[in-house]
Amino acid sequence: MNKVKTTSEKSLANNSRIVALLTQLEKINSESLLVEADTARYVTSKILHLAQSQEKTRKEMTAKGSTGVEVILSTLENTRDLQTTLNILSILIELVSVGGGRRACILVSKGGTQTLLQLLLGASKDSPPNEELMVQLHSLLAKIGPKDKKFGVKARINGALNISLNLVKQNLQNHRLILPCLQVLRVYSTNSVNAVSLGKNGVVELMFKIIGPFSKKNTGLMKVALDTLAALLKSKTNARRAVDRGYVQVLLTIYVDWHRHDSRHRHMLIRKGILQCIKSVTNIKLGRKAFIDANGMKILYNTSQDCLAVRTLDPLVNTSSLIMRKCFPKNRLPLPTIKSAFHFQLPVIPTSGPVAQLYSLPPEVDDVVDESDDNDDIETETETENENEDDKDQHFKNDDIETDIDKLKPKQELGRPIEELKIYEQFFPELAENFQEYDLVSKEPKPFASATNLGGPIVVPTAGEEHPAEANQSVKGIAVKDLSSLQMEEYNKRPCFLDLPKKDHNKDSLQLQNDQKKLLSSCQCLSQEIVKGLDRITLQNTSKNEQYYSTGCLIKKESKTSLTTPTCNKPCQHVSSCGSGLFEGPSVQLGKLCCTGVDPEEEEDSSSHSSGEQVLLEVPDMLALHDPDLYIEIVKNTKSVPEYSEVAYPDYFGHIPPPFKEPILERPYGVQRTKIAQDIERLIHQNDIIDRVVYDLDNSSCSVPEEGDILKFNSKFESGNLRKVIQIRKNEYDLILNSDINSNHYHQWFYFEVSGMKTGIGYRFNIINCEKSNSQFNYGMQPLMYSVQEALNARPWWSRVGTDICYYKNHFSRSSIAAGGQKGKSYYTITFTVSFPHKDDVCYFAYHYPYTYSTLKMHLQKLESMHNPQQIYFREDVLCETLAGNSCPLVTITAMPESNYYEHVCQFRNRPYVFLSARVHPGETNASWVMKGTLEYLMSSSPAAQSLRESYIFKIVPMLNPDGVINGNHRCSLSGEDLNRQWQNPNPDLHPTIYHAKGLLQYMATIKHLPLVYCDYHGHSRKKNVFMYGCSIKETMWHTNVSAASCDVIEDLGYRALPKILSQTAPAFCMSSCSFVVEKSKESTARVVVWREIGVQRSYTMESTLCGCDQGKYKGLQIGTRELEEMGAKFCVGLLRLKRLTSPLEHNLPSSLLDIENELIESSCKVTSPTTYVLDEDEPRFLEEVDYSAESNDEQDVESVDNAGDYEPSIQEDALSDSEATRTHLP
Ligand SMILES: [Zn+2]
Repeated sequence: MNKVKTTSEKSLANNSRIVALLTQLEKINSESLLVEADTARYVTSKILHLAQSQEKTRKEMTAKGSTGVEVILSTLENTRDLQTTLNILSILIELVSVGGGRRACILVSKGGTQTLLQLLLGASKDSPPNEELMVQLHSLLAKIGPKDKKFGVKARINGALNISLNLVKQNLQNHRLILPCLQVLRVYSTNSVNAVSLGKNGVVELMFKIIGPFSKKNTGLMKVALDTLAALLKSKTNARRAVDRGYVQVLLTIYVDWHRHDSRHRHMLIRKGILQCIKSVTNIKLGRKAFIDANGMKILYNTSQDCLAVRTLDPLVNTSSLIMRKCFPKNRLPLPTIKSAFHFQLPVIPTSGPVAQLYSLPPEVDDVVDESDDNDDIETETETENENEDDKDQHFKNDDIETDIDKLKPKQELGRPIEELKIYEQFFPELAENFQEYDLVSKEPKPFASATNLGGPIVVPTAGEEHPAEANQSVKGIAVKDLSSLQMEEYNKRPCFLDLPKKDHNKDSLQLQNDQKKLLSSCQCLSQEIVKGLDRITLQNTSKNEQYYSTGCLIKKESKTSLTTPTCNKPCQHVSSCGSGLFEGPSVQLGKLCCTGVDPEEEEDSSSHSSGEQVLLEVPDMLALHDPDLYIEIVKNTKSVPEYSEVAYPDYFGHIPPPFKEPILERPYGVQRTKIAQDIERLIHQNDIIDRVVYDLDNSSCSVPEEGDILKFNSKFESGNLRKVIQIRKNEYDLILNSDINSNHYHQWFYFEVSGMKTGIGYRFNIINCEKSNSQFNYGMQPLMYSVQEALNARPWWSRVGTDICYYKNHFSRSSIAAGGQKGKSYYTITFTVSFPHKDDVCYFAYHYPYTYSTLKMHLQKLESMHNPQQIYFREDVLCETLAGNSCPLVTITAMPESNYYEHVCQFRNRPYVFLSARVHPGETNASWVMKGTLEYLMSSSPAAQSLRESYIFKIVPMLNPDGVINGNHRCSLSGEDLNRQWQNPNPDLHPTIYHAKGLLQYMATIKHLPLVYCDYHGHSRKKNVFMYGCSIKETMWHTNVSAASCDVIEDLGYRALPKILSQTAPAFCMSSCSFVVEKSKESTARVVVWREIGVQRSYTMESTLCGCDQGKYKGLQIGTRELEEMGAKFCVGLLRLKRLTSPLEHNLPSSLLDIENELIESSCKVTSPTTYVLDEDEPRFLEEVDYSAESNDEQDVESVDNAGDYEPSIQEDALSDSEATRTHLP
């Protein structure tokens, strides 16, 4: 009290009326026994009057430093006069009524809750309690309760729960009294212990007395009762009670009544309140069952269909949709097992890990669905206090980031003895070669031009030095290669099926319509029948008969094809004749479209570049490396587990980027709820569902009836992975992807063929067993389609297609065996609708631009055959064989020494290494396209590429996981494991490519030829742009809240240089998405192991988006192979700049490069700049709000539904964890 006195005395100087009154009141408090009650009444009524009439007074009383609230509260504690008490309660209500909750918080902080609860307890002892007092008290408690985290506990300890409850029970007709009481009950009920306790005393039944039956009287009261009920029903015990009393049915009936009578939508909040109650009660399995039994699905489906037209009713539609999704009976994925349809016998079975688990599972166990967990409603509920959840959140710290500084510090450990690493010497012949036998540019050994150049800077040609003729040669903005005579020769003799023999025997089959719409005079379409015939380019089954190997390809005859499709069954010396045989008939001219070079804009860009090394980016024409005949030949040596004998047409024929831009799609309003409604119709209108299996890997006898209306599916070719297709409705199909081999999950990548289509029909495809919780398909990404008819019409490209694209959690339950032990998980659906451009076409769909292992082999062979051996040192070695017996290529690229003179050879051997790898994850085909761009750039004849070759020796493993790629896996190798988690301890028998790639790096470390840069190319499914992950101790420590200053590590900032350069030179690259944090979950990835164990400071993962860019030159566009290849080329250019930065002898730096350096130095001063925190491999939990809204949690729905459009949040995972509802099988 003393303290109060002194401070209020101080403020007396203000001389304000309210301060005088408060001082007077304070005096009364201290002399309470002596003063007449009248005085206190008088003073408080004066204060009330001021508080009611003047905001100034309310402000003054609650201002910082004011003791007004304390004085008032202490009066409240001391007084025994009813009128004074009422006055004070009124004053407090005035104070907290405005001010946005801040004033309520002040009241709480001054101990108001306790004072009011004590008062409530005292007042309840009167019989009957004073009504006015109770109304005021409850009104005030309802206002301050939500601001007091301990309110629920305090209320219970003070015995307030039953006081309020009994008031309601005894005064049901007195709405003025029970309204504030209900409001307080709602606040009590947010504490689950309170909710249970109130439930035992009959509160649920009580609420139903208030809310039903339907009446438009007292809607205010009804609204509060519904909110209170929804809060109470979040307790499982109360929900069970409600179900037992049949209240689910009652709620539905009331809802329908309101739906019918509220025709002008004036009572939306009441309708929403009823839905909230249903939503709470259906959190338990019994509730969902009761909902289904009461025909809830149909009721909510029909009512929400009625509401669709009125936008303001969206909250009702969205909440209904949430409830229906939650209650939708979980379905079993229609498969015999979720293990891959193919099996590969491993040489060794690992003793632990996912494969060990898979193998140890008894064969009789049903792995598609979980064992029943029906007991969720029987177990006794453990209601726990939840008031401190906010505190918990504050202490939440992600423990995935490495905090052990000793673990973080790079330490070179060889792991394998030097003698053993000797086997890798064979992969480095360049270090021993003396080039005496070679035909080099300078044949005569001559002295080195200038001694000062020894080991000095590599002179990079600048724009001025660029051959002027080159620019002139460019046609359509494409830099024509300065071909060496040798290359030219190669170009000329390149067998090209595009110049097809002009035979006439198929003239009849020419499509007449094409004559009308000739795009190019030489471009004519093959007949549809022929296209039908082309459906499958089949290799004879290689496993069955080796002797047919040489017979090459044949075309499967379609049973209904009346025309003789050109086939080639006779054994032929060279397969190529077969390949061109396919295209006998009109010639298909692709030449004019084969331009994948840099567009004019790009050229402008690079010429306006003020940077030192002027680089005319040269992305060679894509088909230059494509050779169908060679492809077929290579495919025959590619070993797949299913022993594929067919070749997908796009891989055979090749493709070029479309000549138009493909913008990232705007998502139309309401897609998700429309799709979900259609899924719900499967349950409601079961008779409309066809449910016919039209493709099934598990059942070879599955045959499709030859009906005109059914699409045909196929994916029995390299990288294909379709397992089963079910026709759902006439033009709708559910597709199931195969699991990675020796695994029971990992599916997201898809690649399949469709035929038998009609035009003018929107076909809906649903891939129903996706696993990732979100996808760029929700943010504007489209799947890819390749039409054979279009290809034959000189438009051979993969294009982004599909409308009504949506990615959402579906009703197919996911076994805990495949979900890391978590029960109650669901799969996700990617749905898209496509209208085909041609009737009876053959079309292919893919998750991203396919890039098969055979394609890589073909590209490498073409690169080798086209290079100038005088200029380029190129080697392709076999690093090792994969589990399936495919070779894993290792490529070495550098410049030939100018002569075999000692200095030249010496310079050659002393070039620093750059080690690159890609495609450890098969589903990330974009990584291969980036790698293709890198390889082509490195092999190109531009002066910059030559400087680059003269600067470095490139060691490249372009495909770390050939088996995974071949077999259509999404993430794993044949060992069923993610190879990018095996770098710490790769097993030579199970992970040979990783074991030997690491071996190479270890060998390089022992011979002191540590690479300057290591980079592993990946693809990213949930982020836009291209970016890098690197490794930094300081930035990691910064993220763990350990002050970076407190760790005395001195760190070279060199790791930031390359990404920084790329962000300035590569249009798709985005620096702000880069991260340099080392996470525990990534400790066995290539990036971290090469950094920590091998000691490469610049060790990176480079991630390319599957979707598109939201910054830079490609902002708003989906990414294509052209942009990906450009990224690969720009990466090389970046290395050239890095070379200049890291070369200490370099002087003459152009100013722009110095800027980069300065910036790097600057960034060293503020190294604690935050970088994106990375959570799971490639898929950081990115805070971009757009990325997670589709999966936001339940509680946000209250606020967000009203404004979130149709990004309705789905059911909270927690709520679902008890959701193994009775498995009703849909037809
Ligand atoms: Zn990856």
